[in-house]
Amino acid sequence: MRKVIFLDRDGVINQFPGYGKYVTSWQEFRFIERSLKALERLASAGYEIFVVSNQAGVGRGIYSKEALEEITRNMLDALEERGITLKRVFYCTHRPDEGCACRKPGTLFFEQVLKDYPDVPKDEIFMVGDSDKDIVAGKRIGIRTALVMSGQVRVYDPKEWPENYRPDLVCADLLDFVEYRLGGA
Ligand SMILES: [Mg+2]
Ligand SMILES: [Zn+2]
Repeated sequence: MRKVIFLDRDGVINQFPGYGKYVTSWQEFRFIERSLKALERLASAGYEIFVVSNQAGVGRGIYSKEALEEITRNMLDALEERGITLKRVFYCTHRPDEGCACRKPGTLFFEQVLKDYPDVPKDEIFMVGDSDKDIVAGKRIGIRTALVMSGQVRVYDPKEWPENYRPDLVCADLLDFVEYRLGGA
């Protein structure tokens, strides 16, 4: 069976730029060291890795689409050097007020991917993210969800989360998740 995983970018793969802030250039992009190890493990276990990221800073005119593309190119190159291939990186560059279907917790990109994996049971697929939007998106599409504490949300208090939108797992970071999922340390 094919293995599929969805990851958020900021706060999961690279360091969270701060609430309401954006990674506007490659110079500002910092990998989370432990996440590189996690990605290596996912890649060598045969996972097809999809990144789904909200980048409303583009829609707000804070950085350009070209700048975002440059960040992506550099990120993909750096990962390839470690033998990590990301299957596809999806960005929503709309502002929240544009009401698009692709901005998480919207599920458009997830639906597009899942169409190609009709045989993979949804409970075998995780969305790993650092914010409520990531978790709600995953829940809406019916896959499992893991909240990591390496980004926006630093403390998980279930009382602050609607019952039907609570993460299935709470992990310190992506490597913690991978160790749970794939076993071993
Ligand atoms: Mg994030
Ligand atoms: Zn969008």
